[in-house]
Amino acid sequence: MARHRTFNATKRGSSPRGPTKVLMSLNRLVLVINASYEPINICSARRAMTLVLKGTAMVQEVSAYVVRTSKITLPVPSVVRLQKYRRVPRQNRAVSRKGILFRDGYMCQYCRFKFAPARLTLDHVIPRSRAGGSTWDNLVAACVECNNRKGDRTPQEAGMPLAKQPTQISIHAKHRMLAGDEKTWERYLFY
Ligand SMILES: [Zn+2]
Repeated sequence: MARHRTFNATKRGSSPRGPTKVLMSLNRLVLVINASYEPINICSARRAMTLVLKGTAMVQEVSAYVVRTSKITLPVPSVVRLQKYRRVPRQNRAVSRKGILFRDGYMCQYCRFKFAPARLTLDHVIPRSRAGGSTWDNLVAACVECNNRKGDRTPQEAGMPLAKQPTQISIHAKHRMLAGDEKTWERYLFY
Protein backbone atom coordinates (compact mmCIF):
# COMPACT_ATOMS: atom_id res chain seq x y z
CA MET A 1 0.00 0.00 0.00
CA ALA A 2 2.63 2.48 0.92
CA ARG A 3 5.67 3.60 -0.91
CA HIS A 4 8.37 4.27 1.58
CA ARG A 5 10.29 7.38 1.01
CA THR A 6 13.79 7.46 2.27
CA PHE A 7 15.16 10.42 4.02
CA ASN A 8 17.28 11.93 1.28
CA ALA A 9 19.53 14.74 2.16
CA THR A 10 20.36 16.75 -0.91
CA LYS A 11 23.42 18.88 -0.99
CA ARG A 12 22.80 22.50 -1.72
CA GLY A 13 24.66 25.71 -1.84
CA SER A 14 24.01 28.47 0.61
CA SER A 15 20.35 29.03 1.31
CA PRO A 16 18.66 32.37 0.75
CA ARG A 17 16.10 31.54 3.40
CA GLY A 18 16.63 32.74 6.90
CA PRO A 19 16.45 30.86 10.18
CA THR A 20 12.83 31.91 10.81
CA LYS A 21 11.57 29.76 7.94
CA VAL A 22 13.53 26.80 9.24
CA LEU A 23 12.17 27.27 12.72
CA MET A 24 8.62 27.39 11.39
CA SER A 25 9.16 24.19 9.42
CA LEU A 26 10.48 22.40 12.50
CA ASN A 27 7.44 23.43 14.48
CA ARG A 28 5.02 22.06 11.90
CA LEU A 29 2.88 19.18 13.07
CA VAL A 30 3.52 15.67 11.89
CA LEU A 31 1.22 12.68 12.13
CA VAL A 32 2.85 9.61 13.68
CA ILE A 33 1.39 6.31 12.57
CA ASN A 34 2.12 2.87 13.95
CA ALA A 35 3.86 0.16 11.92
CA SER A 36 0.29 -1.09 11.42
CA TYR A 37 -0.70 2.32 9.93
CA GLU A 38 -2.91 3.18 12.89
CA PRO A 39 -2.56 6.89 13.69
CA ILE A 40 -1.21 7.19 17.20
CA ASN A 41 0.07 10.66 17.79
CA ILE A 42 0.81 14.11 16.50
CA CYS A 43 4.19 15.66 17.18
CA SER A 44 6.40 18.49 15.97
CA ALA A 45 8.45 18.09 12.82
CA ARG A 46 11.52 18.48 15.00
CA ARG A 47 10.53 15.43 17.06
CA ALA A 48 9.49 13.46 13.97
CA MET A 49 12.80 14.12 12.24
CA THR A 50 14.64 13.00 15.35
CA LEU A 51 12.67 9.73 15.28
CA VAL A 52 13.61 9.27 11.63
CA LEU A 53 17.28 10.07 12.16
CA LYS A 54 17.41 7.62 15.07
CA GLY A 55 15.85 4.93 12.87
CA THR A 56 12.76 4.63 15.05
CA ALA A 57 10.47 5.86 12.29
CA MET A 58 10.52 6.28 8.55
CA VAL A 59 9.15 9.09 6.43
CA GLN A 60 5.78 8.01 5.09
CA GLU A 61 4.72 11.29 3.48
CA VAL A 62 6.67 14.46 2.96
CA SER A 63 5.25 17.96 3.31
CA ALA A 64 5.94 20.81 0.93
CA TYR A 65 8.39 22.18 3.47
CA VAL A 66 12.09 21.70 3.85
CA VAL A 67 14.65 22.41 6.49
CA ARG A 68 17.75 24.03 5.09
CA THR A 69 21.13 24.44 6.59
CA SER A 70 24.07 25.93 4.74
CA LYS A 71 24.98 22.47 3.41
CA ILE A 72 21.90 20.30 3.18
CA THR A 73 18.16 20.45 2.55
CA LEU A 74 15.91 17.97 4.27
CA PRO A 75 12.26 17.49 3.40
CA VAL A 76 10.00 17.98 6.39
CA PRO A 77 7.78 14.93 6.81
CA SER A 78 4.02 15.25 7.19
CA VAL A 79 3.52 11.61 8.20
CA VAL A 80 6.09 9.29 9.79
CA ARG A 81 5.61 5.60 10.48
CA LEU A 82 7.16 3.68 13.33
CA GLN A 83 9.53 0.92 12.18
CA LYS A 84 8.32 -1.44 14.89
CA TYR A 85 4.73 -1.98 16.00
CA ARG A 86 4.08 -0.29 19.30
CA ARG A 87 1.21 -1.37 21.52
CA VAL A 88 -0.77 1.73 22.45
CA PRO A 89 -3.59 1.05 24.93
CA ARG A 90 -6.31 3.64 24.39
CA GLN A 91 -6.33 4.83 27.97
CA ASN A 92 -2.61 5.41 28.01
CA ARG A 93 -2.59 7.84 25.15
CA ALA A 94 -0.89 11.03 26.15
CA VAL A 95 -3.14 13.33 28.11
CA SER A 96 -2.52 16.96 27.37
CA ARG A 97 -3.93 20.07 28.94
CA LYS A 98 -4.30 21.61 25.50
CA GLY A 99 -6.21 18.56 24.28
CA ILE A 100 -8.60 18.51 27.23
CA LEU A 101 -9.35 22.23 26.99
CA PHE A 102 -9.99 21.82 23.27
CA ARG A 103 -12.23 18.78 23.82
CA ASP A 104 -14.28 20.69 26.38
CA GLY A 105 -14.59 23.73 24.09
CA TYR A 106 -12.78 25.98 26.62
CA MET A 107 -15.95 25.73 28.70
CA CYS A 108 -15.88 25.10 32.43
CA GLN A 109 -17.65 21.75 32.70
CA TYR A 110 -19.35 22.83 35.92
CA CYS A 111 -20.63 26.41 35.44
CA ARG A 112 -20.71 26.08 31.62
CA PHE A 113 -19.11 29.46 31.01
CA LYS A 114 -16.36 29.86 28.45
CA PHE A 115 -12.96 31.13 29.54
CA ALA A 116 -9.62 32.05 28.05
CA PRO A 117 -7.31 28.99 28.25
CA ALA A 118 -5.14 30.73 30.87
CA ARG A 119 -8.13 31.01 33.19
CA LEU A 120 -9.01 27.33 33.04
CA THR A 121 -7.66 24.53 35.20
CA LEU A 122 -7.91 20.77 34.87
CA ASP A 123 -10.18 19.19 37.44
CA HIS A 124 -10.02 15.53 38.46
CA VAL A 125 -13.68 14.41 38.35
CA ILE A 126 -12.93 11.64 40.87
CA PRO A 127 -10.46 13.48 43.11
CA ARG A 128 -6.85 12.36 43.20
CA SER A 129 -7.27 11.76 46.95
CA ARG A 130 -9.78 9.03 45.97
CA ALA A 131 -7.38 7.49 43.48
CA GLY A 132 -8.91 9.30 40.51
CA GLY A 133 -6.42 9.10 37.66
CA SER A 134 -4.97 11.76 35.38
CA THR A 135 -6.70 10.24 32.38
CA TRP A 136 -8.81 11.54 29.52
CA ASP A 137 -11.97 10.23 31.16
CA ASN A 138 -11.23 11.74 34.58
CA LEU A 139 -10.02 15.22 33.65
CA VAL A 140 -12.22 18.14 32.64
CA ALA A 141 -11.80 21.85 32.05
CA ALA A 142 -12.89 23.85 35.10
CA CYS A 143 -12.64 27.51 36.00
CA VAL A 144 -10.64 28.31 39.12
CA GLU A 145 -13.75 29.16 41.10
CA CYS A 146 -15.56 25.90 40.31
CA ASN A 147 -12.41 23.87 40.86
CA ASN A 148 -12.03 25.38 44.33
CA ARG A 149 -15.69 25.02 45.15
CA LYS A 150 -15.75 21.35 44.15
CA GLY A 151 -12.62 20.61 46.17
CA ASP A 152 -12.10 16.97 47.13
CA ARG A 153 -15.58 15.87 46.20
CA THR A 154 -17.18 14.02 43.34
CA PRO A 155 -19.60 16.01 41.12
CA GLN A 156 -22.50 14.20 42.82
CA GLU A 157 -21.29 15.05 46.32
CA ALA A 158 -20.69 18.67 45.35
CA GLY A 159 -24.01 18.93 43.56
CA MET A 160 -22.13 20.12 40.49
CA PRO A 161 -23.16 17.97 37.51
CA LEU A 162 -20.81 17.78 34.54
CA ALA A 163 -21.82 19.42 31.27
CA LYS A 164 -20.81 16.17 29.58
CA GLN A 165 -19.03 12.94 30.42
CA PRO A 166 -15.32 13.22 29.55
CA THR A 167 -13.91 10.79 26.99
CA GLN A 168 -10.69 10.17 25.13
CA ILE A 169 -10.09 12.82 22.47
CA SER A 170 -10.17 11.16 19.07
CA ILE A 171 -7.49 11.54 16.47
CA HIS A 172 -10.21 13.22 14.36
CA ALA A 173 -10.68 15.84 17.03
CA LYS A 174 -6.93 16.30 17.22
CA HIS A 175 -6.92 16.71 13.48
CA ARG A 176 -9.52 19.46 13.71
CA MET A 177 -7.36 21.19 16.31
CA LEU A 178 -4.87 21.96 13.61
CA ALA A 179 -5.31 25.15 11.71
CA GLY A 180 -4.01 24.14 8.30
CA ASP A 181 -5.29 20.64 7.63
CA GLU A 182 -2.68 18.38 6.16
CA LYS A 183 -4.21 16.70 3.10
CA THR A 184 -1.61 13.95 3.30
CA TRP A 185 -2.96 12.88 6.68
CA GLU A 186 -6.44 12.08 5.43
CA ARG A 187 -5.94 8.53 4.29
CA TYR A 188 -4.39 7.59 7.63
CA LEU A 189 -7.24 9.01 9.69
CA PHE A 190 -9.71 6.32 8.83
CA TYR A 191 -11.22 5.79 12.23
ZN1 LIG B 1 -16.81 27.24 36.44
